Amino acid sequence: MIPLLVNFGGFVPLSTVDWPGRAVCTVFLRGCPARCPYCQNAPLLAGEDRRELDEVAAMIAGSALVVSAVVFSGGEPTMQGDALVALAREGRRLGLAVGVHTNGAYPDTLARLVDEGIVDHVALDIKARWERYPNLLGADLTDRVKASLAFCSGAYAEGRLPEFEAVVTLFRGYEDEVAAIAREVGEVSLVLQQGVTESVTPLSFEELTAIAERLGRSCRVRTRENGEQEYEVDRGRWAAGKRQG
Ligand code: SF4
Repeated sequence: MIPLLVNFGGFVPLSTVDWPGRAVCTVFLRGCPARCPYCQNAPLLAGEDRRELDEVAAMIAGSALVVSAVVFSGGEPTMQGDALVALAREGRRLGLAVGVHTNGAYPDTLARLVDEGIVDHVALDIKARWERYPNLLGADLTDRVKASLAFCSGAYAEGRLPEFEAVVTLFRGYEDEVAAIAREVGEVSLVLQQGVTESVTPLSFEELTAIAERLGRSCRVRTRENGEQEYEVDRGRWAAGKRQG
């Protein structure tokens, strides 16, 4: 049988930032159909570094004693459906929770993971309000991201996906989009994440918290300087204690 190959992007044996509240190991899978100008992992968008699945599985196994989960990131990990499903199974076999960071471009891969019960946490990037998506990613990808949002929202509501969050990476100059995005994503858990790029000054924690308070819904704010903090709209206040992102 031909061994399954992984287009490998990298491995972090211990991370506390990829799934707030957990110590995880992170596997980066190479390749992405998008070209966001602010991408933090641009070297992983193209190219090839084919590794046998067993080699990557051994990296995860090597971290299993000191982590509670494996996170798949990229690039776009769902682009390599067969490899991701196989590695998620391996994470499960090792007793780890499984998380996926995705731009939502491959809803079928997310469905495979959920249907097999081998994913616990999906963080879906929402890059803009829907009307700007076709210009950013093209019409076809826009429809696929919408399909991923609908699928994961439904799976979460049904209890088949334990954790689901929509992550909005926010850059200065686009603050006014947040209210529309919050309406468009519906009732899912919302994260406002500080966008960092060389061309504009990042929004500060104080600026992001002010935006969060105006939304009128619970959400979390994630910044480099302050980790992650949760705003509880029912209580009209920030949750006590800061979660570290
Ligand atoms: S979707 Fe993510 S990995 Fe792909 S180009 Fe955009 S930021 Fe980079």
